[in-house]
Amino acid sequence: MKNIIIYIVIILMIVLAILLALREDTKKEDKRLETLNYINKNISFFNYDYIDRYVSYHLKNKKLPLKRVITEVNIGLDNDYYQNTKPAPNKQTPKVLVNKYHYLKEDYIPENLTEVYEGYSKPGMYLVDKAAEAYKKMAEDIRKEGMKIRVISSYRSYQYQKKLYERYERQDGKKKADKYSARPGFSEHQTGLVIDIDNEVLSYEDFGKTKEFEWMKKNAHKYGFILRYPEKKEFITGYTYEAWHYRYVGKKIATHIKKHNITFDEYCAMENNKTK
Ligand SMILES: [Zn+2]
Repeated sequence: MKNIIIYIVIILMIVLAILLALREDTKKEDKRLETLNYINKNISFFNYDYIDRYVSYHLKNKKLPLKRVITEVNIGLDNDYYQNTKPAPNKQTPKVLVNKYHYLKEDYIPENLTEVYEGYSKPGMYLVDKAAEAYKKMAEDIRKEGMKIRVISSYRSYQYQKKLYERYERQDGKKKADKYSARPGFSEHQTGLVIDIDNEVLSYEDFGKTKEFEWMKKNAHKYGFILRYPEKKEFITGYTYEAWHYRYVGKKIATHIKKHNITFDEYCAMENNKTK
């Protein structure tokens, strides 16, 4: 009799354990469905090819909201800079993405390069025609308000960037050089859509202290330019803050980027992975 009671108790315990485990499973399944539902409704740039990467990035950054996890993995931030690199998407357009994960080949030369108007530039500066036109208009308009901007660097070939980077590397070492200079093929200057500017008075490195900079902050997007390496976004762009470096992306994208206070890298992480 005593044995039978013990058996019954054991069986009941096993049944109870199974029921509890099943309940846990349903909970997990519910949570999984809830997450997928949320993604479907709210995140149009979820890339199904990256699911494993999202999961491991989430496990390393548990406090990060889901949307950020997906954005940052789409950028490539789950890999070190210059790891898992790909050819730049949208080449020969103002949407071309060049950063520490996307490169241009040695022989890539932008189409329609034209010399920047010398009145607002150092001589021998070249840009893609659309960007050159937009820049000219911007430089004219800032002059009307009694200020000046001048292009001091624009299109750079792969070979030129290679020399430049190697010089910085010799000077400061690879680690430090990587924070302010791009490796050849990874420089946005090779797109022909980028300007470094000064105000003809101070060094370009002090551009952030000028009234011209304040004007640029307010107005650059109206001409299609964005500040490409903003303050406090270093962990996304991989570059220290550069008040002098502007990228032409066209008015629509520039306005969107300014409005949402995001970088071009984040914009592309969302836009280039859109499924709907
Ligand atoms: Zn630059």
